Amino acid sequence: MALRVGVIGGGQLARMMIAPAVELGIDIRVLAEGDGMSAQLAATAVGDYRDLATVRAFAADVDVVTFDHEHVPQEVLRALVDEGVAVHPGPDALRFAQDKLDMRARLADLGVPQPEWAAVRSSDDLGAFLAAHGGAGVVKTPRGGYDGKGVRVVRAADGADDWFAQLGPGEALLVEELVPFVRELAQQVARRPSGQIAVYPVVETVQRDGVCAEVIAPAPAAGDRLAQVASEIGVRIAEGLGVTGMLAVELFETDDERILVNELAMRPHNSGHWSQDGAVTGQFEQHLRAVADLPLGATAPRAPWTVMVNILGGPQDATIDERFDAAMSAHPDAKIHTYGKASRPGRKVGHVNATGDDLDDAVYTARAAAAHFD
Ligand code: ADP
Repeated sequence: MALRVGVIGGGQLARMMIAPAVELGIDIRVLAEGDGMSAQLAATAVGDYRDLATVRAFAADVDVVTFDHEHVPQEVLRALVDEGVAVHPGPDALRFAQDKLDMRARLADLGVPQPEWAAVRSSDDLGAFLAAHGGAGVVKTPRGGYDGKGVRVVRAADGADDWFAQLGPGEALLVEELVPFVRELAQQVARRPSGQIAVYPVVETVQRDGVCAEVIAPAPAAGDRLAQVASEIGVRIAEGLGVTGMLAVELFETDDERILVNELAMRPHNSGHWSQDGAVTGQFEQHLRAVADLPLGATAPRAPWTVMVNILGGPQDATIDERFDAAMSAHPDAKIHTYGKASRPGRKVGHVNATGDDLDDAVYTARAAAAHFD
């Protein structure tokens, strides 16, 4: 019988696991949040991922449980593990992708380079941190943030009063120094339960309005030292936290060539979409191999450069189908991926990968194909 992998969450990340699952002979099943989700094709169940009975029933029919997002509550995950379900990544690792304060404390224990940070519970705490860090900081809600939501640059002690007012007993906000980064990078690593690790080349990520817009693989002008440092950080975190599956480490590169960890994702990640068409083993296939404890695939680039450009929903009148037609016919050398989602301004509805020997050509092709959807 084929190995059954259950993915909790029906978004585009689950959707993009479907094709490699078919190729690997894996029976993939998805617990979707509702009807008509991006991963509808493999949705064998619909229900609330916060409800233990729902998740337990879904898990009963699969060999391994994994995720499209990190929002399944710890209590649910721990109950599954206690009942003998294979959950990858497991709750002991996933908590560091669920809570940014837990992550900062754990990375400090591991000696991983990161921005200066503190847990703050009041404007007095925040004021003290700002005074010690040049008057500016980045305040983050520890849980539930994505695409820049729950992240705010503050320059005054009262700059997060609305968030402090919402804290429950014992809760805190995270504040970090405002890092003067020259660019953002991401390091992907895959790790199997049995310990095998595969490391991808470090990539450059470009964000606009807190949302990933483009990725260049490998990161331009990344010398051996930078690539080595990023790779060592990725491996240290994957091993130190016991991550299983894909790990994405978002990084800042500073003007004095330091690399600092921003945050972690323990699943395929937007910064790794380039690998679908640009690496021997794409991150979605690699995630399945890793969580199923199958031998990992090679991570070498297939071309000198791969550029990924996200397609964000726009106000344009033309239907998605017409835009695809135009983009495909104008750019037959671009790989256009669609998430089957309704287009709304700013919503990620697809992405384009372009590969080639020349970086400028790849940037042009990926941007021009994605521009058909503006
Ligand atoms: P999210 O969970 O929404 O992805 P992040 O923690 O990755 O939030 O922050 C979103 C963006 O905000 C980052 O990609 C970066 O551009 C900026 N940012 C976050 N933390 C800092 C920091 N300490 N210093 C400077 N910029 C930051």
